[in-house]
Amino acid sequence: MATVTLQNVRKSFGKTDVIHGIDLDIADGEFIVIVGPSGCGKSTLLRMVAGLETVTSGEVRIGGKLVNDVEPMDRDIAMVFQNYALYPHMSVFDNMAYGLKIAKTPRSEIEERVASAAELLQLEPYLHRKPRELSGGQRQRVAMGRAIVRKPAVFLFDEPLSNLDAKLRVQMRLEIKALQRKLGVTALYVTHDQVEAMTLADRMVVMNGGVADQIGKPLEVYADPQTAFVGGFIGSPP
Ligand code: ADP
Ligand code: MG
Repeated sequence: MATVTLQNVRKSFGKTDVIHGIDLDIADGEFIVIVGPSGCGKSTLLRMVAGLETVTSGEVRIGGKLVNDVEPMDRDIAMVFQNYALYPHMSVFDNMAYGLKIAKTPRSEIEERVASAAELLQLEPYLHRKPRELSGGQRQRVAMGRAIVRKPAVFLFDEPLSNLDAKLRVQMRLEIKALQRKLGVTALYVTHDQVEAMTLADRMVVMNGGVADQIGKPLEVYADPQTAFVGGFIGSPP
């Protein structure tokens, strides 16, 4: 089971309240996009789901378990970042295998999993290259490969396409959606890009200053915005 539930989640940094109480139930296999302008708290919310940031109050559960009760290595999640966070001195293979090595996965299984992810992502010809010898799209695929090999039930994405040019962004967006469907994983995807949100989401969460202004299917949100902010943000072109 890979449901994710957020119950009245709040976050403060010192005296600054950044997340003001968010409730969200994510179904197994659902693709949720958190969309909102820069600084509204998207990354902080995602980092709390990943257990990289503690909640100030409220609860985050994955598969019914409190995230912070589960050891980092045992959390059934993988995160893909905007800057890819690849190790520059390691080959594509070693970048993808790294987490599995840390988890003491047997060598034969590491090879199997990396090979199967490389096939899925069309990275087979590049396994021995270093990240600097790859295009932006290929680097993004390696970052996804590193997530896939761990076979997580939940994928977390923080603006994974922001560093790509417009054309590649569209292509990678389609690839991410196809991959999520194929693997049947639950996805929580953060972006400031309305078009990305509209096209990727089963449901979207429109965030405004640490508050979820509206949660719903893209076309419902578009057709029936619940606040003036949502109307302006989703209705007008980026
Ligand atoms: P977004 O991802 O939507 O751009 P963030 O979650 O990164 O927004 O940030 C939300 C707010 O929280 C911002 O005002 C940011 O400055 C603040 N913030 C984020 N991380 C920290 C931190 N570690 N310490 C203090 N303030 C932070
Ligand atoms: Mg952010």
